[in-house]
Amino acid sequence: MSKKIWVHAELSDGKITNVTFELLSKALDLAKEMGDGAEVEATLIGTGLDGEAGRLAEFGAKKIYAADDPRLKLYSPVTYAPILADLASTHSPEIYVFGATAAGSALGPTVAARLKTGIAAHCVDLQLNGEKKLKALVPSFGGKVIGEILCPGKIPQMASVKPGIFVKKEPALAPKAVEKVDLRTYAKLLDAKALEPVSAVRRPPSGLPLNEAQVVICGGFGVGSQENWNRLEELARLLGGAAAATRPAVDEGWTGEHTMVGTSGQSIRPKVYIGFGISGATHHICGMNESGVIVSVNRDEEAAIFQVSDFRVVGDGSVILSALLNAVKAEME
Ligand SMILES: Cc1cc2nc3c(=O)[nH]c(=O)nc-3n(C[C@H](O)[C@H](O)[C@H](O)COP(=O)(O)OP(=O)(O)OC[C@H]3O[C@@H](n4cnc5c(N)ncnc54)[C@H](O)[C@@H]3O)c2cc1C
Repeated sequence: MSKKIWVHAELSDGKITNVTFELLSKALDLAKEMGDGAEVEATLIGTGLDGEAGRLAEFGAKKIYAADDPRLKLYSPVTYAPILADLASTHSPEIYVFGATAAGSALGPTVAARLKTGIAAHCVDLQLNGEKKLKALVPSFGGKVIGEILCPGKIPQMASVKPGIFVKKEPALAPKAVEKVDLRTYAKLLDAKALEPVSAVRRPPSGLPLNEAQVVICGGFGVGSQENWNRLEELARLLGGAAAATRPAVDEGWTGEHTMVGTSGQSIRPKVYIGFGISGATHHICGMNESGVIVSVNRDEEAAIFQVSDFRVVGDGSVILSALLNAVKAEME
């Protein structure tokens, strides 16, 4: 029987998320490399799924397992995880991948634990090794090395990947075959009220969303103070862009976690990325190295960020930030 690579399709407001299509695109590449007629299939949970299931087929999923029920409208690991784990143990996919989103980061490991397999979380790439087993690449040791994680003795081999790491390719148009999951055995679980999700409330985004900004001004620990941070945000605003951060800048409390870029934050591809006081740890670089033009300011001429930068500015970030801000203001007067 041909091997299967499964992608769990995540919904947001009833629509399939972009990360799902990114994962399907990558899964198709892996299936091709795996050979022997390996196929890509998807799992989908929610309600009123017919239209969205079709979109999965458009992006190459040969078969879609759809658990469709009004009681599954809102995500809950309590109901979703047992259904997905049972499906995987029945159909034995070789590989099963999830988006490393807020929901996927909880759901993937819960499914893995039920299946008594491992999951490589927050991967920056997925490859196959010489034996055609999944090789998941994850930054390790503070981002200084890329670890290769294998789980060759168990199936499924599981991984989660953040949105924006893989490129969503053009639709691959697989014939649509939707298999509705028989939910009768889950009736008790679905009717239990103890942990019933009541509503999902979306926090309105403030300012331009990072992944839509064409210009991103990013600050790291080297920005040094809240006062400097405020200037960095002002520069981003004046340039019609968005401000982003490394983890230490978030830890300092200069900005919120929603601005973090990297393995635990967002992946971005702006046309222009200007970074101040950022060393260039892999955890950060993997979230921004696909940016168009990368400009970095660092007082250390050996800083690793310079290796991925198109323009390198060696100097004091706060002096250069002020000079740039004043120049932009003067230009706008
Ligand atoms: C599991 C895990 C997940 C992680 N996920 C993320 C993530 O998603 N995103 C992320 O960013 N990090 C993440 N990290 C942290 C990451 O490993 C690095 O520690 C972090 O990216 C470093 O941030 P930084 O460059 O701002 O700080 P530092 O490494 O401290 O670098 C500061 C830089 O500023 C320069 N500098 C200092 N003063 C000045 C000045 N006056 N002018 C100019 N330059 C100056 C210094 O030369 C230095 O290069 C993660 C870590 C772990 C363990």
